[in-house]
Amino acid sequence: MPTAKKRRRTRTTTTRTAKKARRYVYGFGAGRTDGRAEMKALLGGKGANLAEMSRLGLPVPSGFTISTEVCTYYYDHQRRYPSELRGQVNEALKRIERAVGKRFGDPTHPLLVSVRSGARASMPGMMDTILNLGLNDRTVQGVITETGDARFAYDCYRRFVSMYGDVVLGLKPTHKDEEDPFEVALQEKKRARGVKLDTELDANALRELVDEFKALIKMRKGVTFPEDPHEQLWGAVGAVFGSWHNERAVIYRKLNDIPDAWGTAVNVQAMVFGNMGDDSGTGVAFTRDPSTGENVFYGEFLLNAQGEDVVAGIRTPLPIVQLQRTHAAIYQQLLKIRRALERHYREMMDIEFTIQQGVLYMLQCRVGKRTATAAVRTAIDMVKEKLISSKQALMRVEPERLNELLRPVFDPAQKGLAVKNGRLLTKGLNAGPGAATGRIAFHADDAEAMAAEGHRVILVRIETSPEDIRGMAAADGILTARGGMTSHAALVGRQMGKVCVVGCEALQIDYAKREVRIEGKSTVLRERDAISIDGFSGEVLQGEIPTKPSEVVQVIVDKSLAAKDAPTYRMYEQLMTWADDVRRLGIRANADLPEQCAQAVAFGAEGVGLTRTEHMFFGEGKIGPMREMILAETLEERRAALAKLLPVQRADFAGIFRVLRGRPVTVRLIDPPLHEFLPHDEAGQQQVADDLGVSVERVRARVAALHEFNPMLGFRGCRLGIVHPEITEMQVRAIFEAAVAVKRDGIPVKPEVMIPLVGHVKELRLQTDVVRRVAADVARETGVKIPYLVGTMIEVPRGALTADEIATVAEFFSFGTNDLTQTTLGVSRDDAARFLGPYVADFEIYPRDPFEAVDQGGVGQLMRIATERGRRTKRSLKIGICGEHGGEASSVRFCHEIDLDYVSCSPFRVPIARLAAAQAVLAR
Ligand code: ADP
Ligand code: MG
Ligand code: MG
Repeated sequence: MPTAKKRRRTRTTTTRTAKKARRYVYGFGAGRTDGRAEMKALLGGKGANLAEMSRLGLPVPSGFTISTEVCTYYYDHQRRYPSELRGQVNEALKRIERAVGKRFGDPTHPLLVSVRSGARASMPGMMDTILNLGLNDRTVQGVITETGDARFAYDCYRRFVSMYGDVVLGLKPTHKDEEDPFEVALQEKKRARGVKLDTELDANALRELVDEFKALIKMRKGVTFPEDPHEQLWGAVGAVFGSWHNERAVIYRKLNDIPDAWGTAVNVQAMVFGNMGDDSGTGVAFTRDPSTGENVFYGEFLLNAQGEDVVAGIRTPLPIVQLQRTHAAIYQQLLKIRRALERHYREMMDIEFTIQQGVLYMLQCRVGKRTATAAVRTAIDMVKEKLISSKQALMRVEPERLNELLRPVFDPAQKGLAVKNGRLLTKGLNAGPGAATGRIAFHADDAEAMAAEGHRVILVRIETSPEDIRGMAAADGILTARGGMTSHAALVGRQMGKVCVVGCEALQIDYAKREVRIEGKSTVLRERDAISIDGFSGEVLQGEIPTKPSEVVQVIVDKSLAAKDAPTYRMYEQLMTWADDVRRLGIRANADLPEQCAQAVAFGAEGVGLTRTEHMFFGEGKIGPMREMILAETLEERRAALAKLLPVQRADFAGIFRVLRGRPVTVRLIDPPLHEFLPHDEAGQQQVADDLGVSVERVRARVAALHEFNPMLGFRGCRLGIVHPEITEMQVRAIFEAAVAVKRDGIPVKPEVMIPLVGHVKELRLQTDVVRRVAADVARETGVKIPYLVGTMIEVPRGALTADEIATVAEFFSFGTNDLTQTTLGVSRDDAARFLGPYVADFEIYPRDPFEAVDQGGVGQLMRIATERGRRTKRSLKIGICGEHGGEASSVRFCHEIDLDYVSCSPFRVPIARLAAAQAVLAR
């Protein structure tokens, strides 16, 4: 403590003398540690965690972090650095030199460093790292004398030149079918020397490669490879900052909602070498299994390898337990570090390490990416292990990811049949769970195009790289020939929630011919052929295989599996129970049919927030009388048709009430314009005429009469019931007669009648008068009184703005945010695709598609206003939301913040809404 105090005091005196010297560089590792885990905004995730590991006393090679503020400065000042930076970097370099006992650029004891990017949120593989920086024709001699190993020295050198050539000098393949030019030269060299592996190339061969690489750079890029280490360093730093705005980084940020303004940090760190022989190596590991969440140490390593070798899938790595056999002490040390990290971070961590001649170094740690199953399992296990509380556990699972627990698997019978018929092609590593079936695409852009045509796509690659991200996002599944469980394809695929099988070594992929062969088989699959991959088992099968529901769905919805036989279900259930204990928002579902309502209840819905009666009219035997009603020319004709509709509607409502057993059911009266119920084509109209025994001219005339230029703003919603109150009468009668029938069977009923598209209190009053009158009639006729509410949708701006008046009549509001978004933004959802896509992606006018996540600045304001004004008139006013947004996490949180009573969403999103609602409470 006294030292900390002293340090603070000295700092205040120095800041007084050098007031302007702003700090841009922070040390970590042996020598000096300035940062800590909480400083991610300033140091980026990698830098902050390197500092934190140093604090924990873990062996971190000495280094420093150039803060994200420099990135911001760099882009604000025409790509220039703050003037203090150079001096601070030189000072920090000196500190590394002292800690390591080597000097940067020194010909006898040269310090080599890595230059690594590191944004606030981890962006796996997005930004490029340069290793072995500081090597040149002079310093390489120093490495040779120091290590006595010329082969090693030139191996580092050739890696450095190719990385620098690629990342800083921009020598990359020029088109997608071309291989990396450095890789081509390397293969060429191996062929010339008659060897198979990189490790079999001798010092001479590698030295030649260095020269060939430099010549390649000179020839293809017209620049000379810089020999001066300081020039190398600043080139690399500039490249890291520059890469913040390269296309793939920008796409990744878009996909993951990371703001451009955050910027990246740059980490410069003394090199340690995993390629110094068989007592050296490099590896990556997770403190728990990232696919299942099981509490076992999980990872992979390669001996005599450097940096990205494990991830890049050049050689297939070994499972981490094998390290125990050959390097027991290191393995024990890793186990200790695993425990220390989990206890400290109280999280499942992902680590990178390197062993240099029997000494272990930690190069990175971060919170580990995991499947949804693993996320749920680690969260629950850690509560049991008393590492976290159940509330923290709730924050550990992204609501949207619960989707993955609800994802389909292959129908086992169908898959068994496929295997029997010899359609099992090969097996890879099961990197991302789920079952996917679709057409083969070999390139990311082809995958995008095929998905846009409406096909399910499996992206098949030798390996994936960050350039493939768009294609991976478009594909249902990802299949690679190379790479392990921690390869790019596996990491990114898992995070995206894709079905993913990697390291299928039997696949022989020919990008140029656009075909894939299977080693030892005669099968040739071409682009667009059907293929199926099983992300649970790693199996790859020819052709399509039907999929079937997940374990959770089988237990909850299909009831075909008992909970005791479903461990994933039980974990899911535990999480949902915790969520329900915490959340304040009620959760309802949008469901139109009894089966859907049953599903919704099974998923935890506490009621129905929206039943769209019009969907019922399309059912068997219902569309006929509906059309008759629309074609009616007199009130009598219309009443006659409505009388036929009454019993079918009544049966529909009774079915729903029975399933809900006293939970509230919000029934919306007819909403869409009537022409939607009539066919617009000649043949269809003839059919209707025949069915109803009227002339086709009459049908045609009616369709023409109902034609609207802008049906969305036309004769729909409450406008229909106001002009034709007999329609409302019939619907309300059906609701209450159904309620009476169900109640007579001893089942409680709680109907809530909802009037759509109300903008004026008089509209609502006209319709509620009908509702109350008919409800009273039914009560009188049957002698059974049903408690009910009458309310309205708030879905046009005038309705929101006059909510105080509307609340004098309404007993509840429900925000119809689909229409409210359309009417507030003046954007038709059906016509918006062409500009709304670019609005979000390119121009960043809206941060997210406003039809997906509530536009809080506009639509959200109206919701706030309506809630406040409505409750000012009627304190007991019940308010919910029933637009698509009701099942989207950020919108649920917003609904919690403005104090709604419930959200309502489609049945399969109910679990997501439950968790999001709990998180909304905990986030405060
Ligand atoms: P990414 O963000 O893609 O994970 P990293 O900065 O972690 O990139 O670096 C890529 C690889 O280089 C990793 O495998 C890492 O372990 C290795 N590496 C980075 N710095 C050093 C270093 N100083 N010594 C040895 N290996 C390093
Ligand atoms: Mg890394
Ligand atoms: Mg609407």
